[in-house]
Amino acid sequence: MEQELVTIAKFDDNFEADLALALLVDHGIKAFLANELVYSMIPGIMPDKFFIELQVSSADEQRAREILDAQRNNSEIRNILLGNEAILEGHFLLTSGKHSGTYVEKIRLLQNPVAAQRVCELLAELLEPYDFDTVVGPAYGGIVLAFEVARILGKNFIFTQRKDEHMAIRSGFDLSEVQRAVVLEDIVTTGGSVQEVLACLKERGIDVQAVAAIVDRGSGADFGCPFLSLLQMEIPVWPANDCPLCAEGIPLTKPGSSDKKASDPTTV
Ligand SMILES: [Zn+2]
Repeated sequence: MEQELVTIAKFDDNFEADLALALLVDHGIKAFLANELVYSMIPGIMPDKFFIELQVSSADEQRAREILDAQRNNSEIRNILLGNEAILEGHFLLTSGKHSGTYVEKIRLLQNPVAAQRVCELLAELLEPYDFDTVVGPAYGGIVLAFEVARILGKNFIFTQRKDEHMAIRSGFDLSEVQRAVVLEDIVTTGGSVQEVLACLKERGIDVQAVAAIVDRGSGADFGCPFLSLLQMEIPVWPANDCPLCAEGIPLTKPGSSDKKASDPTTV
């Protein structure tokens, strides 16, 4: 049966158009570019009025739009994290003694409230489809995120903190109206602290509808509910004696020591 073709994106650049096309094809969607040939033959032709159009059949439209949106958010969040030095790229000595080419300095994100606010807008978009009354964040990073996402979506906000090694809801909150919650975390590495938050909510009979994080560092965590993240990032680490970055002779830095490094170049 003939399906009607719909235009789901317009580009003024061949390369961008080809990338978007490839992304959809990778997801098994039949996609087409209209006007591509004309565009490549006459570059610069009426750039305000003439676009390469990415088209899919109307049956695939919704899925194709979701894939393109996810991709746009993914590159936006990456740019925000890199731009605010929340993700550092280089050659790092970790506290474990291992080496890595990527370091996450999550507190840097909160240092720039405008960037943090944008991240919260993206998190709010992820969580909007779920049915909940309260956003919960673990102290400290989760507090800012949960508060702002709750404000955007018009929900309540509470936070948890560790007291005597035990995760608990901060005392003083009125929990009588808290029935369905979502949990927000900045970076999920193993998922351990989120599990502690889930346990203390469960103790109070609060249902958790979803967990969301800015970055999922390949945790593979199972929270017993949907786990959403803005960016999935597997970060390879190597033993010091088998590190490809050492082999390339790239200078090693110890994250968090950048202040010292400026005045004392011998510090690693
Ligand atoms: Zn190394």
